Amino acid sequence: MVTRRKNVFGCAANFLRGKKCVWCGSFKVNKTTRGYVKCRLCHKQKSLKMIRTEIGIVTGFYQQQPAYRLANDLGMDYQTVTRVYQKLRLSLYYIAELEGAKLSGEVEMDESYFGGRRKGKRGRGAAGKSIVFGLLERDGRVYTRVVEGVSADDLMTVIRKKTRKGSVYYSDTFKSYNSLKRLGKHLTVNHSKDMVSKKTKNHINGIEGFWSFAKHILYNYRGVSKYHFPMYLKEVEYRFNHRQENLFKLLLSVYFGYVSH
Ligand SMILES: [Zn+2]
Repeated sequence: MVTRRKNVFGCAANFLRGKKCVWCGSFKVNKTTRGYVKCRLCHKQKSLKMIRTEIGIVTGFYQQQPAYRLANDLGMDYQTVTRVYQKLRLSLYYIAELEGAKLSGEVEMDESYFGGRRKGKRGRGAAGKSIVFGLLERDGRVYTRVVEGVSADDLMTVIRKKTRKGSVYYSDTFKSYNSLKRLGKHLTVNHSKDMVSKKTKNHINGIEGFWSFAKHILYNYRGVSKYHFPMYLKEVEYRFNHRQENLFKLLLSVYFGYVSH
């Protein structure tokens, strides 16, 4: 199911030629003399020039090009590109938050700290950083949430809401996870000793892998404020959960489904 890289942009070809409706996917489109593309099915219309520009912006977003650089490449206003990026990100935020059933089966969890200057561990030194709690279903999706703190209450609320009872839970030995055994089987790995517990072979490599994925992507967005961070985080979550699919195609449908009218 892995899409080959060279085919990623192929899905836009008929949109760019004005042969396919960007909103409903129908081929029943007319080109008007004014350079508009008009859909006979959903009755929406837009200038082909505008459609091409918008697809250009989605392409830049997909490639994580900085807004100023894309604006420069497309000969556009920086603010316009930024606004589209923000709207896309906001749409992804809601979609990521809504999609998918509760995680189940084998579920790994961990907390991580993003942003801020100081290196910090749980609690102490974490000031200025965003605390992220992550849940990952093995061979499945990841779910992330910016949390206020890492108390048992903070974390268990998310776990109860986002995982199915009776799952097998993997975590480190942090005390906030102590009551997990009431929800399902709880297996731990002692982080301070090994990444993989030698004796039990328990690990949380899946969620650790997600943290590196996230940090790699968020490096492009360094300097994001704490206020905007949750939206960037959900974008990463969306990219991760759809990494085996044609993400560009998905972003196009998100854009024309929720952002562009
Ligand atoms: Zn249409």
